Amino acid sequence: MSYDKPLPRPQPSQITAPKPYHLIPLPKEKPQLQHPKGHDQYYRDREACSEGTYRVHGRLHLRLTVQTGLHVSTGVVALGTDVGEKAIPLIKTMIQGNQGQLMIPGSSLKGVVRSTYEAITRSCLCKTKAKPNQIPPGYQECRDKTQLCPACRVFGALNWQGLIQFRDAECESTEFRRGFMPSLYRPHPHEYPGYFNQGKVAGRKFYYHTIRAVDKGQHQGISVQQAAKTVVFSTSLPYRNLTKGELGTLLIVLGQDTQHAIALKVGGGKPIGMGTMTVEVTSVESVDNIRDRYLSYQTQSQPLTGKPLQQLIQQAIQAAHRELVQSQPLQELVKVLGYPTEREPPEGMY
Ligand SMILES: [Zn+2]
Repeated sequence: MSYDKPLPRPQPSQITAPKPYHLIPLPKEKPQLQHPKGHDQYYRDREACSEGTYRVHGRLHLRLTVQTGLHVSTGVVALGTDVGEKAIPLIKTMIQGNQGQLMIPGSSLKGVVRSTYEAITRSCLCKTKAKPNQIPPGYQECRDKTQLCPACRVFGALNWQGLIQFRDAECESTEFRRGFMPSLYRPHPHEYPGYFNQGKVAGRKFYYHTIRAVDKGQHQGISVQQAAKTVVFSTSLPYRNLTKGELGTLLIVLGQDTQHAIALKVGGGKPIGMGTMTVEVTSVESVDNIRDRYLSYQTQSQPLTGKPLQQLIQQAIQAAHRELVQSQPLQELVKVLGYPTEREPPEGMY
């Protein structure tokens, strides 16, 4: 061994920890634009006759279980005494209901579900921070409501309301704990290596699930109101005029495809492992004939549970794989959002 030359100093790229996120490449084919099914066509049952145009209406009932730690910020920093935490001066709060139970705003859930739905279908790049000239041809955000990509048809676009409603999810208990969130370093999109390919956006960014979240450690940060592991939230998602494939894609995103088991990543602290939530579909109120429902005095439909519920879920997921879901982006997504996971939370830099 020769000592006459000093060893080269490691480059910054060699000493940084593995990235806590992965980029899901855009599908090779451009977004697939179609005229959405209008709310004006809500009552047309004749459409139910032919496959492909068959529409489903109903409501999913969901239980969401926190697997790491959850904080969805209100943007408000409160005095500790305001939330019954006398020992700490300041805390970042979550929304609380009348009984003091933590809430996840429907808009936060919608954002999470939509971004995953976009990634596994041929959908536009919506709400991106990239400049217009960095968007690959055909991937511009949909603006013409008669020509919408799969995600915009279901979740809404300019002047188009969408076909699924997201309601606030409510914690089933009034417990919360004081957690801790480091002040995260947030690089700009242009700093992400691999984010751009020849000057164009190359993928969508998703954070890995980990077996637990990083806690206090040596890092500087702030106290946050947090829902701890095993805490359960419940909500319901009403939907109308969805194709079976669209319902199935939603169910895949909600982690109901056993071949591609994934969990949601909700709220703040994603790079340090926070926000992992698993979903259970407890029942579905399925309305085959929406007009009957409106003509009837008895508006309660019989919710499906157990085996009939599982059959409905499986059939919808099969239709999703046939009609809408892009297999390669889905495989990539499962590498990041697949759950359960063995992945350790990041050490050091994140
Ligand atoms: Zn779109």
